[in-house]
Parts: sequence; C-alpha cells; structure tokens
Amino acid sequence: LAPAPRRPIRELPDELVSQIAAGEVVERPASVVRELVDNALDAGARQVTVRLAGGGVRLVCVEDDGCGIDPGQLPLALRRHATSKIASLAELESVATMGFRGEALAAIASVSETTVLSRADGQPHAFLLDGGTGELRPAARTVGTTVEVKELFFRTPARRKFLKSDGTELAHCVEAVRRHALARPEVGFAIWHDGKLVEQWRPAADAAQRLSDVLGRDFMAASLPVAWEGGPLRISGRVGLPDAARARADQQWAWVNGRHVRDKVLGHAVRSAYEDVLHGQRQPVYVLALDIDPTLVDVNVHPTKIEVRFRDSRAVHQAVRHAVEQALAAPRAGLNPSAMS
Ligand code: ADP
Ligand code: MG
Repeated sequence: LAPAPRRPIRELPDELVSQIAAGEVVERPASVVRELVDNALDAGARQVTVRLAGGGVRLVCVEDDGCGIDPGQLPLALRRHATSKIASLAELESVATMGFRGEALAAIASVSETTVLSRADGQPHAFLLDGGTGELRPAARTVGTTVEVKELFFRTPARRKFLKSDGTELAHCVEAVRRHALARPEVGFAIWHDGKLVEQWRPAADAAQRLSDVLGRDFMAASLPVAWEGGPLRISGRVGLPDAARARADQQWAWVNGRHVRDKVLGHAVRSAYEDVLHGQRQPVYVLALDIDPTLVDVNVHPTKIEVRFRDSRAVHQAVRHAVEQALAAPRAGLNPSAMS
C-alpha cells in the first residue's frame, strides 16, 4: 500500500475556523434564535423581541433592553473566543450565565450577514457594527442591543439545502423562544414573522402564570405542581396527570439553572416516577426546572450546551423521582369534595 501523499500542515484562517465551529453551533435558524436570546437574557433584558422573515432563514433579529455593549468592545463581540462572561477556569466552574464560550456570534457571523446595533448604559447614542466589513458607525437606539442575522448559510448552499420549509423552521424558532419564556417568567417576549405578531408573552407575576400563558389552561388543568427542595437542589414545575400522557414525547421540558437541557438522567427519573401509573409507551408531560449549585453541574459538555453532566447524577435522579412521585400522590383539590378545608 502506498503511503498517502504528504501535505503541509497549516493554521487555518480565522474565518474558516469560525465556519467549522458554526457547523456545531448553528444547525438552523432556531439555533441562531436560541443563542441571541441567551445573550439578551445574559445582558439582563426585561423585554426581548424576536423578528423573523422567511422562517428565520432570511432574517433573525433579536432586540433587547439589556445593558448594551460599549462601543470600544463592539468589534470584540464578533471575535472568536471573546467573552465578557468568564475570565478564568474557576469562573467556568461556577458559571451562571447562558453563554461563556464566546463563539456563538463569531460562528453565526461567519455563515450569515450579521450586524450588531448596540447602545451601552451611559452612552449618548448607539453604534452599528457591520460584521462583514467590520465598519463601525454611530446610530440611533435606546439602551440595549439589536442583532440582525440575514441570509443564513448564504455562503454554504449545501447546508442551506438541509433546511426544511419556512413553516417548519418557524415552528422550531418559536419553540426556542418558548423554552426561554417558560424558564424566565419575569421577562416579556414577542415573536414576529413576516411582519405579523406570532406570539406574545407579557412579563408574568410568577412561574405558574407564565406556564398558563405559554401552555394554556388545559395544560394547567391536566397537570400537578412540583415543589421539592433538598440540600443544594430545588425542583419546581408541573407534571401531567397520567391521563394526559401522550403518544409522543413532545411535551417534555427540563431546565438546569435556567438552561433548557435534554438529559437522560432527568428523563429516566421522571419516567420511573410514573412507573405504576403509566403503561406501555405513553409519554408523560412535564415542565421541570432544576436549580442546583452551579459547581455541582458541568455545562461545558457540548458546544450547544444542550447536555449537562451532574457531579452526583444518582442523587439528582433520586431527587427528581421523589419530587415527581410526591406531586403525583398529592391529594387533588376539586376531585374529592371532602378534601376541601
Ligand atoms: P458568549 O455569550 O459565550 O459570551 P457570544 O459570542 O454569544 O459569546 O457573545 C460574545 C459577547 O458579546 C458576550 O460575552 C457579550 O459580552 C456580548 N454580547 C452579545 N450579545 C449581547 C447582548 N444582546 N447584550 C449585551 N452584550 C452582548
Ligand atoms: Mg452567547
């Protein structure tokens, strides 16, 4: 067998490195929505407005009223591995923000036409940064940030071909915002598509109000509250009555410290709590938020941060199972008239 021809080793240009990273971070418009809303929330936004066009492929624009970005720092926001959220390994281990990798904006900008319009707290006006040319110029805006992402994957037509219809991409974008909205009741959200208001969730008084606003009264009527606390872990949310179980696992949401996750440990724990009341392949409905000491969970497992690793996953499994069992066993007001007190 002839050895492979030897090619020189080269350092890849920055742009290409970002495009490679974008392959992991940006799968579709909904990934852009998620990253931009993460950033808005990290900036302390109270109101987040998402404007989409063409299923988010033509435009994803996220406006917030957060702290804004200093003009001198604006170009850094689009640089790879540039972040204001951590500065050391110790800070990574206790990170409480959604972001910390400093790569989302760089990755997104490398596969789209991106602009960032931002006015920092205390600045007389805003600045607009063009991600393509790097040009920075004065502009008008209230305090906060607007990131505009146009023509996703326009330079990588092969990836663009993997996108589904506008309707499907829009549904994924809405779902990405819904996950944030469920986790952050105090923040108002609005979603526009092609100039029409698609969803609006006003700031809610509490988590129950937001759950009802987002998932509807039927969901509330067919579910029970979860409230459990032990040591460094708090579990809250709602679980569906066994009768409300579905054929598909399409109404299962979990968050760890406000971050939406897909976690096998959590899923399995919930499932096991339903062991005696759910039969066959029926899927329970649940909305569960875990709040845990951030040093007990590793969020740096996957570029999209959809997976986490618990330091003591057995303890978490047990706690979730107990919390759900307790909720399912609670006497139900309204079902039994003699239970009224
Ligand atoms: P990360 O969120 O991991 O830090 P990003 O690439 O998403 O990385 O963002 C880079 C930096 O740009 C952030 O650390 C933050 O300082 C700044 N930034 C991005 N979006 C916003 C926003 N909406 N408001 C304020 N600052 C922002
Ligand atoms: Mg980010």
